[in-house]
Amino acid sequence: MAELQLRDIRKSFGSFEVIKGVSMDIRTGEFMVFVGPSGCGKSTLLRLISGLEEITSGTLAFDGEVVNQLAPSRRGIAMVFQSYALYPHMNVFDNMAFGMQLAGKDKEHCRKRVEAAAEMLQLTPYLKRLPRQLSGGQRQRVAIGRAIVRDPTVFLFDEPLSNLDAALRVATRIEIAKLHRSMHNTTMIYVTHDQVEAMTLADRICVLRDGLVEQIGTPLELYESPNSIFVAGFIGSPK
Ligand code: ADP
Ligand code: MG
Repeated sequence: MAELQLRDIRKSFGSFEVIKGVSMDIRTGEFMVFVGPSGCGKSTLLRLISGLEEITSGTLAFDGEVVNQLAPSRRGIAMVFQSYALYPHMNVFDNMAFGMQLAGKDKEHCRKRVEAAAEMLQLTPYLKRLPRQLSGGQRQRVAIGRAIVRDPTVFLFDEPLSNLDAALRVATRIEIAKLHRSMHNTTMIYVTHDQVEAMTLADRICVLRDGLVEQIGTPLELYESPNSIFVAGFIGSPK
């Protein structure tokens, strides 16, 4: 369970304010998509939620508990990035099991979780392969698998499909939608610049602009009633 509350979150790098007062609630199990132009602060916002960057001011709470000072490893969050940083010398199984092994989980536990994740992502035939023996799409699925085995309550994706070609993007997008349906109560926050991804995956879309929320709503709400030309431009409807 993780309902996220962001209250007037701000982030500065030196004197440069990047996130300028963002507030929103993200419901347990919700699929929230962040869109917005390059440099508007999408990745920074994910990193603040994950704890990889420290919040300058404002509060971030999970289920009512303020987590501003909580270490990333204790937030129950898993993050998948655009570039799937797999360990090149480890096979798929070990890439997925490594984090659990570090955390001291026993062998049997690791095996079960990796096998379940591999099954979910159709990676079972590839467990013994090295990353270089996989396609880009398969590698990205391993990166997602590595996050799944940690059983996160919140899943963060930062443009996970943008390095894939068009056909693989569609296939992997469908996998992610399935994953969300099968992981009940897992909250997902997903950054993309692809309108189709946003419209098809999102329960709600948050349009960010220059460190602020421009509009939040369901895909249909944003499509039918964009509150600015800027939003319409991102969602693809005329205004
Ligand atoms: P987006 O993901 O929407 O493209 P980012 O969150 O990566 O945007 O970056 C938002 C702004 O913050 C950019 O102007 C970027 O240069 C700046 N920024 C991001 N990280 C840092 C950092 N560690 N130090 C200084 N500036 C940063
Ligand atoms: Mg980014």
